[in-house]
Amino acid sequence: MGASLLTIDLDALAANWQALDALSAPDVETAAVVKADGYGLDTGRVAQKLEGLGVTSFFVAVAEEGQIVRKALGNGPDIYVFSGHMAGDSDILTAANLIPLLNAPGQVTRHFSTLPGHAFGVQLDTGMNRLGLEPEDWEALRSDLMDAGPRLVMSHLACADDPDHTMNHQQLRVFKELTEGVARRSLAATGGILLGPEYHFDMTRPGIGLYGGLPFADALPVVQIEAPVIQTRTVRPFETVGYGNAWEAHVECEVATISAGYADGLIRAIGPKARVFAGDIPCPVIGRVSMDLITVDVTHLDAVPPTLHILGQHQTVDDLAEAAGTIGYEILTSLSSRYTRRYQGA
Ligand SMILES: *Cc1c(COP(=O)(O)O)cnc(C)c1O
Repeated sequence: MGASLLTIDLDALAANWQALDALSAPDVETAAVVKADGYGLDTGRVAQKLEGLGVTSFFVAVAEEGQIVRKALGNGPDIYVFSGHMAGDSDILTAANLIPLLNAPGQVTRHFSTLPGHAFGVQLDTGMNRLGLEPEDWEALRSDLMDAGPRLVMSHLACADDPDHTMNHQQLRVFKELTEGVARRSLAATGGILLGPEYHFDMTRPGIGLYGGLPFADALPVVQIEAPVIQTRTVRPFETVGYGNAWEAHVECEVATISAGYADGLIRAIGPKARVFAGDIPCPVIGRVSMDLITVDVTHLDAVPPTLHILGQHQTVDDLAEAAGTIGYEILTSLSSRYTRRYQGA
């Protein structure tokens, strides 16, 4: 049993969806974003768990992901595609009955010419300048699009993780101006839900909060990682540990080598600041993170347990992200296929 164990708590995921759902009024639909393989946790299992709670709208980044969700869920729920209707997508959109969120005039033309009558939504740019129809394009195309009956008109906030950012109000104002009178609207992802009811419109689209990440500070942790200790040794003063001799002992130390590394998605940048846990006791990571191995100072432990915890109650994805100078989203979506995976609450 050499590989690290990744435990995914689907009951915690469900509780997080319910908690986010409870933050908006009962007549606001709470959807679920399951792109990037369900933020690395298995889009099929995640979507099935959420469908069991009554989720009827799912969002993915690209049509291929939508096909996987459709296979997992069957014909009931709506599956929206953020990248819209890209060249070559028509067959998948039809076969898997996906709803592209059209985001450029060329996509509108492509959709109406190749799949007339097929459901679609519209994505508007309200200032992020990443994806979505520019206001002028929307003005020009609005009456044709509205005649064809979009299932949803949505936009995305650039700074919703910072509640005090003036960009939030600005995008809200632009979105309201652009969509006055439109039937089904959506603006809020996890951060937007936390900004309050003005941002909720008809549907919210949480992603990261479901998976236990910030900005949803009340989220339950969904992932746990436990790495087996392969070997321990005594290291004497002035001996070094790992690649590049990056760490040197000043006193006699006990060093444990665990079976986890950057090939598991525990990126090298976590190195100097991250800790692992023996029960409740933190143990500093020392030296460089290798592809398959991490070295840990366990001098202060009475006994070295057979496994050490990397993610869980004591260290969240955001703690690890902070150690690495990144965000929880990147830690989650980097978790590799090498783990032994265990799903709880399936
Ligand atoms: C990823 C994404 C979401 C979900 O965002 P979270 O911050 O993970 O909640 C919602 N809408 C769009 C357009 C996205 O790209």
